[in-house]
Amino acid sequence: MTLLDGKAAAAELRGRVKERAAAYEAAHGRKPGLAVVMIGEDPASQIYVRNKTKACEEAGIRHFTRFLPATVSQKEAEGVVEGLAADENVHGILVQLPLPRGLDGGALLAKIPPEKDVDGFSALNIGKLSAGEEGTVACTPLGIMRLLERYEIPIEGKRAVVIGRSNIVGKPMAMLLLNANATVTVCHSKTKGLAEICGEADILVAAAGRAKLVTADMVKEGAVVVDVGMNRGEDGKLCGDVDFAGVEKKASYLTPVPGGVGPMTVAALLENTVAAAERSAR
Ligand code: NAD
Repeated sequence: MTLLDGKAAAAELRGRVKERAAAYEAAHGRKPGLAVVMIGEDPASQIYVRNKTKACEEAGIRHFTRFLPATVSQKEAEGVVEGLAADENVHGILVQLPLPRGLDGGALLAKIPPEKDVDGFSALNIGKLSAGEEGTVACTPLGIMRLLERYEIPIEGKRAVVIGRSNIVGKPMAMLLLNANATVTVCHSKTKGLAEICGEADILVAAAGRAKLVTADMVKEGAVVVDVGMNRGEDGKLCGDVDFAGVEKKASYLTPVPGGVGPMTVAALLENTVAAAERSAR
């Protein structure tokens, strides 16, 4: 089994992004800019936001982080996003999810113009992905595609199974694999016969958020297994959706958790930000 080393692949991708950011700055006299809107004090979100800001600094991307209290009104939050949307130094905007209760996430995200939507959540970007057109793709699935590319894993003609159908991971992941000419099945909480379906996969992406959902008996010999899950195990440690100890004996490639998909997600966000800056200049 070969480990799909997301940390190393992300470092390479961040290096390429840094070169593009420097070229953009040389040509336009300012850095690409990313704005992160963090509402409330969700501890996990605070860590993600810190990681994103640090990654921006290292890549030569200017960051504008706006911390708003959980008590902020819908109108005030929308006003902040509108201000960032109008700021020409800001090329990408993301609103850190989940939002505190009481806020209308859909309405808030709708204030992000599609060209600054570096999370790829807008209806336009989702539509472009469905149509196979160039647009901004959600960071986690994009990062996974970059990881598969890095290890030169063939996708065309393969059977791919995605567990999870969320708008931010499962659905765009399935769409990217389909666009890359895989034959794709999407499974979810109401799927019957999950184990048999997974057993047919040449490429299996697990994004259910259920610790150790995928066990060795569900995995085909030689399959490529990508573990998106981030769960707390019974021992309190971070673990994925895949039973690593069992599955590593059957998979040809497998992502670790941590150190697999997570770092690729951040690197893909930086790539999306630089790409948005480059597009804005055209
Ligand atoms: P979500 O809760 O929005 O969606 C989970 C999906 O899994 C749903 O479609 C549900 O139907 C399906 N599901 C749940 N239980 C299932 C089961 N027993 N069998 C089959 N399908 C089942 O979650 P999400 O936002 O898509 O995230 C999924 C996981 O990926 C979470 O653990 C999350 O923390 C993690 N995640 C990791 C990264 C990263 O960068 N590493 C990024 C995003 C999400």
